[in-house]
Amino acid sequence: MIGESPREECGVVAINAPGRDVSRLVYFALHALQHRGQESAGIAACDGGQLTIQRDLGLVNDVFDEPALRSLTGDRAIGHVRYSTTGANKWDNAQPVGHTRGETLVAIGHNGNLTNTDVLRDELAAEGIRLTASTDSELIAALLARAPGSLLEAAASVMGRLAGAFSVVAISDAEVVAFRDAHGVRPLAIGQIDGEGHVVASETCALEQVGAAFVRDVRPGEAVRILSDRIESRQALPPAPSRLCSFESIYFARPDSRLAGRTVWDSRHEMGRQLARENPVEADLVVGLPDSGTPAAIGFAEESGIPFAEAVVRNRYVGRSFIRPDQEMRQQGIRLKFNPLRSVIQGKRLVVVDDSIVRGNTTRQTVAMLEDAGAAEVHMRISSPPLGWPCFYGIDMPNREELIAAGRTVDEVREAIGATTLAYLSLDGLDAALGRPPEGYCRACFTGEYPIPVPEASVKLRFETSAV
Ligand code: SF4
Repeated sequence: MIGESPREECGVVAINAPGRDVSRLVYFALHALQHRGQESAGIAACDGGQLTIQRDLGLVNDVFDEPALRSLTGDRAIGHVRYSTTGANKWDNAQPVGHTRGETLVAIGHNGNLTNTDVLRDELAAEGIRLTASTDSELIAALLARAPGSLLEAAASVMGRLAGAFSVVAISDAEVVAFRDAHGVRPLAIGQIDGEGHVVASETCALEQVGAAFVRDVRPGEAVRILSDRIESRQALPPAPSRLCSFESIYFARPDSRLAGRTVWDSRHEMGRQLARENPVEADLVVGLPDSGTPAAIGFAEESGIPFAEAVVRNRYVGRSFIRPDQEMRQQGIRLKFNPLRSVIQGKRLVVVDDSIVRGNTTRQTVAMLEDAGAAEVHMRISSPPLGWPCFYGIDMPNREELIAAGRTVDEVREAIGATTLAYLSLDGLDAALGRPPEGYCRACFTGEYPIPVPEASVKLRFETSAV
């Protein structure tokens, strides 16, 4: 759901490809991952024994120009785009973040969220290590810098000290590595660049962007050393059941990426089909809210036999962090992003398919906008179950009290958003659409059953003010 969506977290990439303009490849890969974070971008490149980091606030295009890319020479590089799930949006928190390791520097890019930062911060403070940034990513960099052995060995030993969700890329003057938490909550894929090198990235769309062929995912609990001619693997943590974030398939990942062997577009399309089977409705047109609602809307239309129509035009040039209109212009907020096609909508009973409802404000405005444009009925169909619980694994989701579905019946939510009818995809329907058993992925924001323990203090913080 555009506008009030749970925000994407971060995107990471690491490449080792001697003879190629590696920083430029990382730059292109970061473009493919831009949807995962728009607040800052950065690249760390290694030339000989020299590691150079360039990072700043802004989109990839804002941070890097031709001279900047030319200055980032070397055969190996990592890159990062960030949306701040923890820590403020300030320069210090942009990544890759570096820490000195003996004489040299280690830099990392992190996607996820640690749940034991207080413990780790205390441990490092006791060793006299002061951290400048407010992110858990700097903690990981500091731990890596202090661990003995090669960077791969350091990664393997540090992984056991980290709790929570993490997909990390790291670079030193001698190595590039990547590693993933024991449950593989955040995605991380390996690709091969035409016999010339290897790449690891958050999503397979970034592999394709640099001409790499997908090899496999980094396994949960695995650390890999990325070499030009091969991938060296170390199963650092005992294999645990995969808990890949289901919201990646519902909303976060790009539709052309593959997650757990399936194209995200196909999963969303199947969610729409399943939604139509579970929640049929008599209507004239199926409308998807662009872009994330579109594949599910097409699936719904195919399954229901109701024609799909493009009835809402999206302004693609409104950034996610545009200056929001004041209270009086609230309706204008949605119009900056969507404009309804009156000639298509007038007098029609619409099925409107969207991926999720978070706080409900944007959905309410969307329903009102469609009614103003002449829709006779607005039947909201949501291609995920009701969101009732916050995320502790790297997605910036509101506290429970702000989630409109928390503690409300579906009919109460329907009334609050002003739709003619409202229905969500069931949990079983989600399992069926993803083609995986429920224990194969995380769906805690729908069930409240957190697969990785969350410290009580964090839970209290997010729940104690829950009024509903
Ligand atoms: S709680 Fe929800 S958003 Fe967070 S990792 Fe689990 S499925 Fe993904």
